[in-house]
Amino acid sequence: MRALRLTAWGAPPAPAEVERPAPRGAEVLVRVEATGLCHSDLHVMGAVPGALPYRLPFTLGHEVAGRIAALGSDAGGVRAGDRVVLYGPWGCGACDRCATGRDNYCDRRDTLAWHGAGLGRDGGMAEYVLVPSARQLVPIDDLPADQAAPLSDAGLTSYHAVAGVRHALGKGTTTAVIGVGGLGHLAVQILRATTGSRVLAVDVREDALALADRSGADFGTLVRADTAGVLRARTGGAGVDAVLDFVGTTQTLELAAGVLRPGGELAVVGSGGGRLTVSKPGVLPPGFKLSLPFWGTRPELAEVVALARSGAIHVETERFPLSAAPEAIDRLRRGRVRGRAVLVP
Ligand code: NAD
Ligand code: ZN
Ligand code: ZN
Repeated sequence: MRALRLTAWGAPPAPAEVERPAPRGAEVLVRVEATGLCHSDLHVMGAVPGALPYRLPFTLGHEVAGRIAALGSDAGGVRAGDRVVLYGPWGCGACDRCATGRDNYCDRRDTLAWHGAGLGRDGGMAEYVLVPSARQLVPIDDLPADQAAPLSDAGLTSYHAVAGVRHALGKGTTTAVIGVGGLGHLAVQILRATTGSRVLAVDVREDALALADRSGADFGTLVRADTAGVLRARTGGAGVDAVLDFVGTTQTLELAAGVLRPGGELAVVGSGGGRLTVSKPGVLPPGFKLSLPFWGTRPELAEVVALARSGAIHVETERFPLSAAPEAIDRLRRGRVRGRAVLVP
């Protein structure tokens, strides 16, 4: 089968012919219908040797939807022909986090949870992907594959980040979303669908602000010298209740800290490598709360799929055949993708 493999750190992935895996034991083989291209794929490809605990080579693609093609002899709970989305964080399955569906916070992250399809193990940028067990699958029924695949990370991670700050939101509150790309445009929709908070969007691209507007944001602004002032003015000077930062550079972290009201909450999702200095006294507002949400839980993935099936959220996608993955990767790197790029084998 065809696959897009990462063979060297810092080098572009290479198309390859590899053997189609055969499921054994509890394993399930999924025929891939669509795989999302995530900004994290760029971080993975561009990592310096030793930075990530993955062994090369492996097939990229951690945002996958498809149809079950075959089951190992001990696999249960699903049937050949079922359409599914992959739950990406593969925990140990045994610790109390995994037992409650929170594989994203598995205690054994050193050995297991950082490994999943497309993250150290062969992923979905291929015709087929092998998953360790039906635990990693959530049914999607008739949801189109290019809608379903991005839910497994862009949708789930955004949903989990919103869930983390939801207690602080409601009517009369304001949330700022920084970075309205694959994740951010879904975060705007999820905020609108589940919290009642007003949404202010921030990006460096006009077309991302147009996407924020289509996604239901109340206001959008480009990053410039006085973005914090512009956002504050939108809250009558008080500041925002929560910021979801899908960029995570020092510039965006400082913008977030500068725009939060007392007791405000910052959730950093973006892996931009920025730094924020914590000191008391200091520039952070009193009551400031910080979280670093990672991916999401299995029950949350089912909730995101239900939201999409109800029509409450819609992924804006640009489709590419798997053979055009290099072009899609190049466009994502240059900030030219609107919403989510989806690869179709
Ligand atoms: P994306 O490229 O689709 O979107 C990023 C958006 O941010 C783009 O619209 C871009 O124009 C905008 N942007 C870039 N620099 C900016 C700046 N300085 N200020 C404001 N906006 C800016 O990326 P994505 O796939 O949505 O991923 C977003 C980030 O989240 C990445 O860093 C990714 O690695 C990370 N991520 C984290 C998790 C997690 O579990 N924590 C999961 C998935 C992705
Ligand atoms: Zn991702
Ligand atoms: Zn675990």
